[in-house]
Amino acid sequence: MTPRLWAACALGVVLVALVAYAGLVIPWHRPPAPRADQLDALRALPGDQVQRARAFHAELRPSSYGALAVGLAGALVLGLTPLGARLVSLAGRPFGDHWIAQAVLGGLLIVLAGEVLTLPFAAWRHTVVVRYGISTQTWGAWAVDLAKSYAVGAVIGGLALLGFYTVARLAPRWWWAFGAAGAAALVVLLSFVLPVLVEPIFNKFTPMAQGPLRTELMSLAARDGVPVRDVLVADASRRTRAVNAYVSGFGPTRRIVVYDTMLTEATPAEVVSVAAHELGHAKRGDVVIGTIIGALGAAAAVIALYLLGSLGWLLRLAGTESMAEPRTLALLLALVTLAGLAGGPVQALVSRRIEARADAHALALTGDAATFEAMQRRLGSVNLSDPDPPTWEHVIFASHPSTVERMAAARAYARGER
Ligand SMILES: [Zn+2]
Repeated sequence: MTPRLWAACALGVVLVALVAYAGLVIPWHRPPAPRADQLDALRALPGDQVQRARAFHAELRPSSYGALAVGLAGALVLGLTPLGARLVSLAGRPFGDHWIAQAVLGGLLIVLAGEVLTLPFAAWRHTVVVRYGISTQTWGAWAVDLAKSYAVGAVIGGLALLGFYTVARLAPRWWWAFGAAGAAALVVLLSFVLPVLVEPIFNKFTPMAQGPLRTELMSLAARDGVPVRDVLVADASRRTRAVNAYVSGFGPTRRIVVYDTMLTEATPAEVVSVAAHELGHAKRGDVVIGTIIGALGAAAAVIALYLLGSLGWLLRLAGTESMAEPRTLALLLALVTLAGLAGGPVQALVSRRIEARADAHALALTGDAATFEAMQRRLGSVNLSDPDPPTWEHVIFASHPSTVERMAAARAYARGER
């Protein structure tokens, strides 16, 4: 068997494993609450609030879709013409065309080109979120955030590219196997270390102050049988008025994080309701599920890249000879961009199902549908989410059920529908 045939078989195995695992662990059967309940919930919301949220999203759309379109066009132009290969060569020239310089600096140059193209849209977006009072950031703080995320991406991306091209040079015929294993391992490693290494670059996390709320949250976790080391408060108010909470990491790095804005905007009972949702994620191991799906997806992507690399016409478009040389970097990033866009709606669907299950967990754990619904209204009104967004937008992008879907789920629960 040739390496290519092995790769095709391996891709088949990884994809079957991915589909089987997702089929088993994702709660596919959970339909949203009845539409009639959703419409009732929508009518219960203040009309001016709904209008303001819709106006906000209408104003955000041009910058969001503009960034998407320009970013994609830029990636395709760089990847499907020799322009990207020329940029990579340019980056390596001061270093005697050394492959490490080409791989790392070339990669950074290509990504930076994409960032520069979409920067005006990000700035436009910032003006809208400031005008609507969601963002509290000055232009300076906004730019610092942008620079920080570029630096984090440069370090992680640079190491990944270095690893990739090292393996590709050492094992020109079998790099896809080592690359697939490496990519999967990287996803697991990142899921483990991002909460402790990267999140603190953007926010300060402090243990929630001793008091009745903290005591109640810890006893809620104990009642739920979920060991939680700590509940942390993030200083999100330095950049936003939006409220949120999340669980990240697993094993010893697992933590429940509550935005400080939540503590000032929501009632303690609502914070408990949000924490109960996060405990649902912890109890079902949703971070682990996401990590395993991500790892299998990354492995499949690397093998698929290898197989695409045998298409002569694709390489000729990019003006290169092999997927294993750094000059093909822009083509590689263009293919990854395309795969990301195509996989987005599937990821969003998986996420919505998992979020709906965490909502059901919160309702069952607290038994308090009224507070859950009040909390969803609060989240929606403070964060200016469109309570009932257009279906196509919801299907393609939404990571969570809509506000009316979540309110309706609480109403169905209160009626005894579990
Ligand atoms: Zn959630």
